[in-house]
Formats: sequence, structure tokens, C-alpha cells
Amino acid sequence: MTQRKKVLVTGAAGFLGSHLCDRFIQEGFHVVAMDNLITGKMSNVEHLLPLEQFDFYRQDISKFIHIPGDLHFILHFASPASPIDYLKIPIQTLKVGSLGVHHCLGLAKEKRARILIASTSEVYGDPEVHPQKETYWGNVNPIGPRGVYDEAKRFQEAMTMAYHTFHGLETRIARIFNTYGPRMRLNDGRALPAFIGQALRGEDLTVFGDGSQTRSFCYVDDMIEGIYRLLMSDYALPVNLGNPDEITILDFAKEIMMLTNTEQKISFGSLPADDPKQRRPDIALAKSLLDWQPRIAREEGLRRTYAYFKGFSLEELHRMEHKNFDQYIVK
Ligand code: NAD
Ligand code: UDP
Repeated sequence: MTQRKKVLVTGAAGFLGSHLCDRFIQEGFHVVAMDNLITGKMSNVEHLLPLEQFDFYRQDISKFIHIPGDLHFILHFASPASPIDYLKIPIQTLKVGSLGVHHCLGLAKEKRARILIASTSEVYGDPEVHPQKETYWGNVNPIGPRGVYDEAKRFQEAMTMAYHTFHGLETRIARIFNTYGPRMRLNDGRALPAFIGQALRGEDLTVFGDGSQTRSFCYVDDMIEGIYRLLMSDYALPVNLGNPDEITILDFAKEIMMLTNTEQKISFGSLPADDPKQRRPDIALAKSLLDWQPRIAREEGLRRTYAYFKGFSLEELHRMEHKNFDQYIVK
């Protein structure tokens, strides 16, 4: 029997990381999953634990990491990703984007593995160019509240390019735009889980500012396909991955109210500092390079996401608010 290719996924118990684990298992890989559970949940990967081709390590990527034997691919997804998370844990966010990526790159170099890092549309900050192309350098406030995330990701890109040019490492950089779907944490503060959670609990939907700021939301299955194709490509420069279908946050809240068939109102709050006014990916590069574009329209994606959250009882929904998985498995 031929040996399975081995892939390391960091941030594996998170929203995107857990979907990546599923995809690589489906593709016949041996998946080594690492996560320190700071924002992730064991329940996202519980279904994979019985598999002999899946190993989970509770591990802080900001500390030294090692894996015995061969390793072919690394996907570095460990990082708090929601503004309320990285505002609560700013130093860990900076560390996992800087020390964490250094550890992953060092491991990739030792193993001659190909590495893909999860960068973000936040490298464009509050963009003055619309839509955002990969050639735009961004408008980031380094010392604002979002700076801990944005600058860590910008450093991460610089470090990755340095390993590519100086050490000849095979590197890939995915600039990921807002992605949504099952396994998001209901209390992670991002717009979609916030609105769905509020609708399910019968609370008003909290729109920040006047809701005229825009985002472009990509369904998770499309994103995972884009990431997979980028990893398998031979392109080392950053590539935007996202759905260009742009919507104002106010209209988005109204869509969620229609979807959940709720009678609540919208309440307006103040806009968080440095909240980007507009965001839409230019995905021409991904289209030509990877023959990729999103296939799942927001209506369908929202329906699937709502079905996931609706599957929980009210009691379970409240339990999801807590991180109740203290146990972990190390094989
Ligand atoms: P998430 O919070 O669900 O997942 C992140 C995971 O990383 C969690 O399981 C968390 O416990 C883990 N983690 C954090 N710090 C760690 C550390 N020091 N050591 C080990 N594990 C650690 O977030 P997500 O939405 O799945 O995001 C995953 C990645 O994708 C992040 O790097 C994020 O920046 C990037 N990204 C996500 C989006 C999006 O819309 N979801 C957009 C752009 C970029
Ligand atoms: N937002 C909102 N109400 C909420 C949560 C978020 O109006 O309860 C807004 C937020 O201010 C931002 C947009 O929705 O303008 C998207 O926020 P999210 O945290 O999902 O992602 P990001 O700002 O990182 O794109």
C-alpha cells in the first residue's frame, strides 16, 4: 500500500481548520491536527477522532512544534479571527501570527513540506481601493485595536515570502475574505453568528454604525475548494479568495430576519474603531490561476448555515456559548 501523504493543519479545531481537516481526510491524506482550543472547539473535530489517519494534538503553535517522520504539507490557520476574540487576546494574536508562523515555516523547511498560510482581507485595512486586488498595499492602522491582527497577518506574509525567496521553500498565501457556514461559534461576535444567535434567542439584531459598511460573504465549502486548489497550484504570491457578492451590513441583517422569520427589530449601536467601510475581493487572479470561483449563492449558504444552528436546542445553544471541552486527545 502506498503511504498516505501527511498534512499538518494548525487551528484545526476552529471553523475553517475543521472543514480543512474533513477535506484532507476525504482526499485520502493523513491529517495531523494541532490546536490550543483558545477559540476553537473539540466538537468541531470529534467525528474525526476515531480515524486512524487523524491525530489531534493540543498544542500552542506559538511554542516550538515538531512532528516525527515525513510531512508533505502544512496549512497554518491557527489565529483568533473574530474582532472580539483578538481584542480579548491581543498578545496571543500577535504571537501566533509571528512566532507561530516562524515555527510552521521552520518545520516546513526541515521537512521540505509545502506550506500555505491563512492571510486575510484585513491586510488591506480600511481600503481606499475598491474592489481589492492583490496589488493593493492596504490602509492599516498599526496601533489601532485591529492592528494586532492586521499587522500580525502582514508580518506573516512578509515572513513567508522571505522563506520562499531566501530558503526556496514552496509557499502559498491565501488572502481570505469574510467566510461563513456551519461550525462558526455562535458567540464569536462576527456579524452572521451574532445576527442568527440574536434571532434564535428572540433579541433585536445589533447593527453597528448605520449599517452602510459593506462586506462580501463566502460560503465555507467554496472557500475550502479555493484553499485546496491554491495549495496544489505552483503560485507563491498572495491570492484573494472570497465571494465578490457585496452587501451592506444593514441589508445583511434584513436578510437574516427574513431567513429566520423573526419579528425582532434592528437596533443600531456605535461603529467599532477602524471598522472597514467597504470590502469586496477582486478574484480575477484566482479565476485564471485556479479556475475557481464561488458557486454557492448567499441565499443557499445562509439556508445551510441556519439549518446547522437550528439543529440545536435552546439549551444546547446556550451550552455552545461555553468552552466545555477540557479534555483532549494526544496520540
Ligand atoms: P477560529 O477562531 O474558528 O479558528 C482558529 C483556531 O486557531 C481556533 O481553533 C483556535 O483555538 C486556534 N488557535 C488560535 N491560536 C492558537 C495557537 N497559538 N496555537 C494553536 N491554536 C491556536 O477562526 P477561523 O474563522 O476558522 O479562522 C481560521 C484562520 O483563517 C485564521 O488564521 C484567520 O485569520 C483566517 N481567516 C478567517 C476568515 C473568516 O472569515 N473565517 C477570514 C480571513 C482569514
Ligand atoms: N457587525 C454588526 N453587528 C454585529 C457584529 C458585527 O453590525 O453584531 C458589523 C461589524 O461592525 C462589521 C461587519 O458587521 O462592519 C462585519 O463584522 P465581522 O466581525 O463579521 O467581520 P469583519 O469586520 O472582520 O469583516
